[in-house]
Amino acid sequence: AKADGRNRYRFFDSSLDAAARRRSLIERELALAIAEGTLDINYQPLVDAQSRHIVCAEALVRWSHPTLGAISPGEFIPIAEETGQIGAIGSFVLRQACKDAVNWPAHIRIAVNLSSRQFLGPGLLPLVESALRQSGLPVNRLELEVTESLLMDMSSGVEGTLAALSRLGLRIALDDFGTGFSSLSYLRRYHFDKLKIDQSFISDLETNQDSRAIVEAIINLARDLRMSVAAEGIETRAQFDMLRQLGCGEIQGYLVGRPMPVDRFEDYLRENGSA
Ligand code: C2E
Ligand code: CA
Ligand code: CA
Ligand code: CA
Repeated sequence: AKADGRNRYRFFDSSLDAAARRRSLIERELALAIAEGTLDINYQPLVDAQSRHIVCAEALVRWSHPTLGAISPGEFIPIAEETGQIGAIGSFVLRQACKDAVNWPAHIRIAVNLSSRQFLGPGLLPLVESALRQSGLPVNRLELEVTESLLMDMSSGVEGTLAALSRLGLRIALDDFGTGFSSLSYLRRYHFDKLKIDQSFISDLETNQDSRAIVEAIINLARDLRMSVAAEGIETRAQFDMLRQLGCGEIQGYLVGRPMPVDRFEDYLRENGSA
């Protein structure tokens, strides 16, 4: 039993090692990618559930490494948040997304994800103002997606920064809604323009009565609080139809369109009669 324990310990030890090595590799290579400007953005459409017209696109950062291949933001964004590299990444995504979106039809908004870490310090408001000014994008076409992790620490300047951003005239969406600790209490403390229902509630919408009830409750809640509501991760026609029936405003997911490089997204706009 003792030997067993030792082996197990060694096993965990070396897999921790491997994880730590991968992490520091990512950190080093990400610094290079940022310096060389090789990060990219994909755009994923959101459509109006009733009219099916494209109303918005979400900017999603992409990193394709010359030897490691595509590295998912699910892996490198949390590392970048820890190291502070998210500052440079976030600024690149916001500026580039505004520049790209200004060429699209005026009814199409651009949604950009923000990390909590970007709210530390006074830099965010000037960054947003400068991205808008330099691109010429009208402020009402910009939407910023934040998650609950941001709001867990409302003590700091976060509430003031959110309010200042709103006063500029852009829209603030609460992302991954329903997955956090106390989503509801945040809705009392701050007015969001939009809720995005997390895709974990969508995947079993057709088979799980409880998921259906939760999604329906979120949609009704959003309406009562005068927020718009979007659902992400829609992959089937049945999910789309169910969400439309429940009164969900906007739909995003592989069924409607995958995240695409900017030129493919612009083709997509033309093919779908939006440009
Ligand atoms: P998110 O903000 O919840 O973005 C939605 C994720 O779901 C994206 O993953 C998207 O590609 C994926 N997705 C969209 N439709 C479907 C679908 O129908 N089925 C499935 N299975 N997945 C779908 P992605 O691009 O890998 O991004 C993962 C997360 O990384 C994002 O989750 C977001 O939290 C973060 N992220 C991505 N880009 C940025 C960025 O520029 N800044 C920051 N701060 N975070 C980002
Ligand atoms: Ca998002
Ligand atoms: Ca999500
Ligand atoms: Ca998210």
